[in-house]
Amino acid sequence: MIRTAVIVAAGLGSRMCERTVDRPKGFLEIDNKPIIEHSISKLLEMGIDKIVIGTGYLSEVYEQLTLKYPQIKCVYNQKYQSTGSMYTLYGLRDHICEDFVLLESDLIYEKNALRILIEHQKADVVLASELTYSGDEVFIETDENYDLVNMSKRQEDLNSIYAELIGITKLSYSAFQKMCTYAEMAFEVKPNIDYEYALVGISKDVDLYVHKLNDLAWCEVDDENHWNRAVDAVYPIIKAREMGPVKRNILLNPGPATTTDTVKYAQIVPDICPREKEFGQVMEFISTELTKCIADPNEYTTVLFGGSGTAAVESILGSVIDQDAVVIINNGAYGKRMCQMAEVYGLNYLEYKSPIADAIDLEALEAFIQNSFGKVSHLAIVHNETTTGLLNDIEAVGELCKKYHIMMIVDAMSSFAAIPIDMKQMNISYLAASSNKNLQGMAGVSFVIAHKDHLEGTRQIKPRNLYLHLYAQYHHFVITKQMRFTPPVQTLYALKQAIIETKREGITNRYERYSKSWETLIEGIAQLGLTHLVPKNHHSKIITSIIEPSGSNYDFDEMHNFFYSRGFTIYPGKLDKLNTFRVANIGDVTYKDMEEFIHLLEQYLKRINR
Ligand SMILES: *Cc1c(COP(=O)(O)O)cnc(C)c1O
Repeated sequence: MIRTAVIVAAGLGSRMCERTVDRPKGFLEIDNKPIIEHSISKLLEMGIDKIVIGTGYLSEVYEQLTLKYPQIKCVYNQKYQSTGSMYTLYGLRDHICEDFVLLESDLIYEKNALRILIEHQKADVVLASELTYSGDEVFIETDENYDLVNMSKRQEDLNSIYAELIGITKLSYSAFQKMCTYAEMAFEVKPNIDYEYALVGISKDVDLYVHKLNDLAWCEVDDENHWNRAVDAVYPIIKAREMGPVKRNILLNPGPATTTDTVKYAQIVPDICPREKEFGQVMEFISTELTKCIADPNEYTTVLFGGSGTAAVESILGSVIDQDAVVIINNGAYGKRMCQMAEVYGLNYLEYKSPIADAIDLEALEAFIQNSFGKVSHLAIVHNETTTGLLNDIEAVGELCKKYHIMMIVDAMSSFAAIPIDMKQMNISYLAASSNKNLQGMAGVSFVIAHKDHLEGTRQIKPRNLYLHLYAQYHHFVITKQMRFTPPVQTLYALKQAIIETKREGITNRYERYSKSWETLIEGIAQLGLTHLVPKNHHSKIITSIIEPSGSNYDFDEMHNFFYSRGFTIYPGKLDKLNTFRVANIGDVTYKDMEEFIHLLEQYLKRINR
């Protein structure tokens, strides 16, 4: 059983620039805790009861740790500026008397890495991972037994590359003694050698087994890129894995969608008053990044509200239209909902009805605009009509709006972050979306992306609402970086993580993933003899209205329950007379899940047709 850990922590961390001016790298904080303390907690949990830290740069900061953790002993390397990690390690030899785990101070990693190392049968084990391509990696060459042969940051130094060094190594006491003997000779020529150099030095003498872990979440923090990767990508995975997986339900309803565990766990943060500057920065990040998905933040802005998606649509309709008319295109339940809002707010609105399962007739729409009584200032349209999955051609309608100097309002709730949108090119003035559909975040944040100049032009309009007043919410945010009323704090933390994950996947790739699930669905239902409402060429590939199976044994609720008990949630049709049920293919779901769904659907249909 390994009881001792040794941490080399003398380095300057100079590539982190101003972040390490007042603290050593190990004291950079993630989740309000220095990374060295994340490491210490894991070591203690794994039964380590003696931790020797080799210090140098700002050693007094490490000394403070000994007050909190009696298990820690710090040993100072006076020559830390001119020596390397091996000299620091060598300086600890009087404090080490048994096998130990050797770590670097600037690592974040899953606890599992320690478990594997400590429980490993072999005495000397170098932990490694598949290549991360994170920059500055140390490559490892092994022999046919996976024992260490060579290591280098330069690929060309090696005959072959087997893995990447993590920086967590188990060493027997005898191997350590050999390293020290080897180093004593080496120091005469090169006082600044790394411990890796000494490992390679003794590798002819000692079997240093390289244990390669696939899919370990870990990261070394050497520069700003590493740091961003650590905070945004790696740490959330470590946190989610260590908290344990949450039961995965596959939501095939059109949002809230299935989320990743990293998004779920991003909500677990220390309590914070949302009026704090720190929280303002979270909202500013969210606002800017949402804008960037579809527009230039210099020209457009994102206004956040606590509320479901409808709040954003209502905010626009209630706030930006003055006396002139708004044309509202109604070809489904969400277009109809906009008409209801216009009614409630007493707007001068003109309802343009269009078939629910076919493209908008642009000529007829143009004639409608031309023949309308009075000036039309705005036109409102749903992008992906979630009722049916009909994708409205907002680009073409945008052209029309441009021609007639009409500002276009788009409800992009179920298309945003999947179907590519370009606000400027499509001539969109205001767009509404929410956190819980293709963004794959939690429900509770809705937002408006607006052309700043157009928004500025609304400040004179007499307000019809308070909470949802768009200009007031915008203006307040510009001045204070705060929402006017209490924001959904934890939902916003989840949204931040969801945005990071959306950017990492890329909107185009996300839509490709969704489309593949959709193709699987469409082919699957066709094979089972079912059809869907909207023709393929006008389909959003996001949500599908499927015509209900015929026969008196069919019952939607029963079918829903059949699926629900098997981990899948489906959705009823929106317009009663259509006789459809709906299946969405958004969220953290792949075509594999859709194959499973089709398989279950087949079982269900067999059951009712018996
Ligand atoms: C989901 C959705 C909304 C908003 O619905 P909420 O229940 O308020 O979140 C609005 N429009 C469309 C097109 C939608 O798909």
